[in-house]
Amino acid sequence: MESLARFLTQKCVGHAIARVDLAAFSALKTYSPPLSALTGLEVEGVSRHGKFLDISAQGLHLVFHLARAGWLRWKDSLPDAPPKPGRGPLALRLRLDDGSGFDLTEAGTQRKLAIYVVADPMAIPMVATLGPDPLSEEFDQTALAELLQSAGRAQLKGVLKDQRTIAGIGNAYSDEILHAAKLSPFKPANSLTDTELAVLYRVMKDELADAISRAEGLAAADLKSEKKSGLRVHGRKGEKCDVCGDTIAEVSFADSSLQYCPTCQTGGKKLADRRLSKLLK
Ligand SMILES: [Zn+2]
Repeated sequence: MESLARFLTQKCVGHAIARVDLAAFSALKTYSPPLSALTGLEVEGVSRHGKFLDISAQGLHLVFHLARAGWLRWKDSLPDAPPKPGRGPLALRLRLDDGSGFDLTEAGTQRKLAIYVVADPMAIPMVATLGPDPLSEEFDQTALAELLQSAGRAQLKGVLKDQRTIAGIGNAYSDEILHAAKLSPFKPANSLTDTELAVLYRVMKDELADAISRAEGLAAADLKSEKKSGLRVHGRKGEKCDVCGDTIAEVSFADSSLQYCPTCQTGGKKLADRRLSKLLK
């Protein structure tokens, strides 16, 4: 999302919004001010709050959260005709004064993509409750230690991907960070030694910085495939760990899954797949 924010900053800032068309009505979570209030306003900045992108234009903010199946497709030249609502994956199209712009799309049937038009992004509860940003300068090792302590015995994996604890690390990068730090996803958050904490902190900063530098300069359309190719454990169940050669394992939950390397992270032990063991009982 950080890469996308930088990409959109280059493309949009200084341009006026020519029109915004909504194609999937359920994606828009606010009704006042209306989307049409953005028409004619000049884009002044594009920023990120956790996984929310915020396009600010003369006192109004178009904020969106792409969720798992959502994506932004940049086009240097958008078609002239407005999109037809309710067909295909298109949720919203924003067109700038030079005919360029982007489509927000969502594949599948989950409909989690969320779009807001607000005067203040803090009016969006999920933005207002975001934890600290691990890419910010204030996020030092002490800050990480404090929030892991206050998470108590909650499992590291869940703590890292909880946006209220730390903003902007999702399911994929929490897997990557724990693998690089050689920590079990199920380790209690408050049980890290000083060495483990120092490694986790360094790895977290490195992994996120790497992800951004890999994505830099890529068009928005290429970001998703680049993200996948940069991952070492996430989504790679059954493949070989490129650190130790062990086979990457998986734990499934009702609506997500995590991947890890038993040799690197859990002393060779397979973690219980709680969904499966529940079914077997
Ligand atoms: Zn390994």
